[in-house]
Amino acid sequence: MSDFVLTIFDLTRQDPKTLQERTLKLGEEAGELAQAVLTVTNAPGSTYKSHTLADVREEAADAAIVALSVLAQTCETREEFEAELDRLMTAKCAKWQEKLKDDVSTR
Ligand SMILES: [Mg+2]
Repeated sequence: MSDFVLTIFDLTRQDPKTLQERTLKLGEEAGELAQAVLTVTNAPGSTYKSHTLADVREEAADAAIVALSVLAQTCETREEFEAELDRLMTAKCAKWQEKLKDDVSTR
């Protein structure tokens, strides 16, 4: 497991946010990501802002970190967090892969 994953677990332990506060923070970061994407793709009403693909990458990273922190907060130990993260990512990626296969076969 990458070091940053365990760092996210450790930082989550040190940060006093409640699960609700952390989840609201995820919504905030998702909004910032949406704003950056809307600007970069010249969406109507968003062209007065200035964002770049670098901003999109940064906001995606922020959202991913907070999402992982929400997951970390539901786990008691680093080991449980690592195991759950691995289990869920494997299962969810497999589900996504199956969905893509289904989508391609119905085209
Ligand atoms: Mg952000």
